[in-house]
Amino acid sequence: MIGLLRSLQRTVAPRPLEPSRIRVGDEVLEVVFRRHAQARRLVLRLNSTGTGVLVTVPKGVSRGRALDFTERSRSWIEERVRSRGGLIHLTPGHILPLRGIAHEIRHVESRRGLVTVDPVRGLIHVPGEPEHVKRRLLDFLRAAAREDLAKASERYATLMGVRYRRITIRDQRSRWGSCSANGDLSYSWRLILAPDYVLDYVAAHEVAHLRHLDHSPRFWRLLLTHCAGAAKAKNWLRAHGQEVHRIVT
Ligand SMILES: [Zn+2]
Repeated sequence: MIGLLRSLQRTVAPRPLEPSRIRVGDEVLEVVFRRHAQARRLVLRLNSTGTGVLVTVPKGVSRGRALDFTERSRSWIEERVRSRGGLIHLTPGHILPLRGIAHEIRHVESRRGLVTVDPVRGLIHVPGEPEHVKRRLLDFLRAAAREDLAKASERYATLMGVRYRRITIRDQRSRWGSCSANGDLSYSWRLILAPDYVLDYVAAHEVAHLRHLDHSPRFWRLLLTHCAGAAKAKNWLRAHGQEVHRIVT
């Protein structure tokens, strides 16, 4: 009987803990609690985009104690949010990096027309109904990302003597790009926010995987032969990669 109870306890997953919220400046961050059987103590960190708090909760520790712990970690959270910088909304007045250069979002009072970029004054003009600015701007950014990434992929495929099947643009948080064994490339649209040489490097990296599906010396040799900006781009991604995730979609 005890054995049966024990096995029942093992198979029944613990109830998820209700999330909470914490206000930091003018932002409200969601606090997500995750039970972890192996955890020894409460551990708190920001999520990968810095837009929420993750708390690992050991077995037997109540939500109340986890909440307490979150409140006591407030100054740490505030510090991290400050160094991350504010969130950027795709609405008029916000400053958006486009190909690594700051552009202010402006709404244009006209029903029709395309999103246009004024690189000299650093402006992005978005026509249409005000409530559609975010949607239209996001569509524009995704299309621009697709165009730049397709061009770069095509160029590197020719240089490296390989072919790809299809390009997909996604909003992957954990990776900038990927290459499947059957030759499909996929990229994050957020690469359009980074400087040109970063997008270029990610395309070169994924296209090089069409020849070597690993990170072997042969892979790096092929990549570095054709992509002069690789080291600079890797440094940028390490130092600033998270910044492009500040844009809220
Ligand atoms: Zn890789």
